Amino acid sequence: MNEKIKEELFANIERNAPDLISMADMICDNPEVGLEEYKASGWLSAYLADRGFSVETGIGGLETAFKGTRSFCGGVSLGLLCEYDALEGIGHGCGHHIQGPAVCGCAAALADVMGAFADLHPFTVIVYGTPAEETVGGKVTMLGNGCFRDIDVAIMTHASSSGTSVDNRTLAMSSYIVRFQGIGSHAAIAPEKGRSALDAFLLAASGVEFMREHVPPDVRMHYTITGDTGPVNVVHESASAKFTLRSYSRETLDGVKNRFEKIIRGASLMTGADCAVQEVVSYDDAVPVDSLAGLLMENARFVGAPDIRPPRERTGSTDFGNVSRLIPGACLRVASDGEGHVPGHSREAAALGKSDENHDAIIVAAKVISAACCDLIMSPPKMEEIKKEFEEKRRGQVNADG
Ligand SMILES: [Zn+2]
Ligand SMILES: [Zn+2]
Repeated sequence: MNEKIKEELFANIERNAPDLISMADMICDNPEVGLEEYKASGWLSAYLADRGFSVETGIGGLETAFKGTRSFCGGVSLGLLCEYDALEGIGHGCGHHIQGPAVCGCAAALADVMGAFADLHPFTVIVYGTPAEETVGGKVTMLGNGCFRDIDVAIMTHASSSGTSVDNRTLAMSSYIVRFQGIGSHAAIAPEKGRSALDAFLLAASGVEFMREHVPPDVRMHYTITGDTGPVNVVHESASAKFTLRSYSRETLDGVKNRFEKIIRGASLMTGADCAVQEVVSYDDAVPVDSLAGLLMENARFVGAPDIRPPRERTGSTDFGNVSRLIPGACLRVASDGEGHVPGHSREAAALGKSDENHDAIIVAAKVISAACCDLIMSPPKMEEIKKEFEEKRRGQVNADG
């Protein structure tokens, strides 16, 4: 479908490939953690402004968020989302440096090539730069501040160490910061005067371990103690920890959250250390829209994307899940590490950030998404099918979650 136009889109992306790749390399060489992505958001929004997009920065309540818009007589509004935050102490170990260049290359090609058909096939392309996916979930803040209401679909891409595919589910997730405050004392001379915050943490962690047997198999629970609790010869006055809970169902997760909060209060009661529990991140499980995911994969095959595979059995959590509850969304995962598979979120993955495979993934992703957008622009019934499926799925999922 629309093969000739797609070939024009691909040629446009190929012409821009050196610029897109050097932009990704710059982002890779200048890793910035969530909410500090000033350079990356600056380079990406400048690229769009140079190509005629009207760019707004600091949108949605976040300084490093941006939006670039180009409208050709209104029409279907195609949302292309990108992340560009790095991992603390690791760099770009999650491949977020390739997302922005890929969607910018795609957006520029759509404007250059598809603009000629706008009389009969009007469209708008909007690139949203979304900060801090790895930490606080910038998309959640942006959603809360009114972003994404102006797009009909939300499409993303992500680097992949498990082939080219589209996930059909993601884990809902809630992350907490827990602080225990006890009473410090000398561990040998006056332990009876102390109330240990560290004991409270250990009991809370034990409580989570005992709960682990009695939750559905898709539930994931992890925790770590943060900061220095103090030397061995004191009763520990304070302790801070992070806990993360996940499930493929928000409904299940809400039940686990309830029990988790009781465990924390129980640990506090048992030790006499006060507790403060703060939910700092809340990601929803994604609403899968098979018709949109299928369109991406159909075009991945047309482009000849590397190592095409079925959806993954095991997936993580993302703030894109929250966006996918508002509008139909899909994320194309593009094979980006060739034969040398390395785990995500690792220094090894970050070291491969400028590899040929990562460079190719930028171009493949730009081509696949531009081709899928071409189909959406040229074929209104396809867009209707996607919206209909989304409404049905969302109704089912949101009702199940109460
Ligand atoms: Zn990540
Ligand atoms: Zn990621």
